[in-house]
Amino acid sequence: RHLPYFCRGEVVRGFGRGSKELGIPTANFSEQVVESFPSDISTGIYYGWACVGNGDVHKMVLSIGWNPYYKNVKKSVETHIIHTFKEDFYGEILSIVIIGYIRPEKNFDSLDALISAIQDDIGEANRKLDLPEHLKLKEDNFFHMPE
Ligand code: ADP
Ligand code: MG
Repeated sequence: RHLPYFCRGEVVRGFGRGSKELGIPTANFSEQVVESFPSDISTGIYYGWACVGNGDVHKMVLSIGWNPYYKNVKKSVETHIIHTFKEDFYGEILSIVIIGYIRPEKNFDSLDALISAIQDDIGEANRKLDLPEHLKLKEDNFFHMPE
């Protein structure tokens, strides 16, 4: 109902759940940005487009979940960009458009099960984002920030 949802904000340090060690780093938005989200948006996994600073627009998968750092009373919003970056980009401005919903949040029995679910999410995002109606949003003026 809230989609597509456009959002821009600074990338902050997360709580080091070791996403990067799993090969799936997630760029966390600040608490302030998360608070600005519609409060009734469903937790779970989404797909869309993302760009760092004035960089290229890439496919992404995004998780909206309960933030363990705040005893699960606040949400966290984490974006995994489907692209290999040369360097970390903490402190930079991340722009995203959230387009579609993939699945609800789940608990997994094993790390392997978690990783394979995320690989599936990335596969689904890849396929969906190749659809013409979704490619259109990649070119949206939202991603062309003034200098
Ligand atoms: P944290 O707990 O600080 O969020 P992560 O292990 O989730 O740590 O790593 C996230 C950081 O990795 C991002 O803030 C960003 O600087 C960097 N990074 C590098 N490549 C990517 C990518 N493809 N998608 C998202 N973040 C990335
Ligand atoms: Mg993270």
